[in-house]
Amino acid sequence: MIDSQELEQTLGAGFGALFHPYFDGLARGQLAIPRCTACGRHQFPPRSVCVHCRGHDFAWDVADDPRGTLFTWTVVHHAKGTEFEALAPYAVALISLAQFDVRLYGLIPEPEGLEVGASVRLVFPSPDGEVPAGSSTVGRPHWVHANPD
Ligand SMILES: [Zn+2]
Repeated sequence: MIDSQELEQTLGAGFGALFHPYFDGLARGQLAIPRCTACGRHQFPPRSVCVHCRGHDFAWDVADDPRGTLFTWTVVHHAKGTEFEALAPYAVALISLAQFDVRLYGLIPEPEGLEVGASVRLVFPSPDGEVPAGSSTVGRPHWVHANPD
């Protein structure tokens, strides 16, 4: 899991701070998405200005049951020198979230058989590092195939 210090080193102090509620939510097992308090629309990634109305104030809404559909993806076969090296091959995906009108990035550890429009759901590891039944062995939040509702 990315901590705040690593995030700000990667993204820069101001931009990294925009992501704190997102990563803090993931650490608690929640997917939080920013909502503009002026127009009520969600956006991702977090920004300091609303892309819809140029508002500056945001609240964070938690997705009740994070599910979505696969918009597109790419498969990473070589992640040499990174913490993701042992996970390869895996997919980095763009997922259309069902509950809120946003697309967000996600890790899919088992990229075989992916199809555009496939139903996926977000899985969180438990606080003690155990992985929920039916998911892969990845110890971080990730997306898996889901049966459509
Ligand atoms: Zn707005």
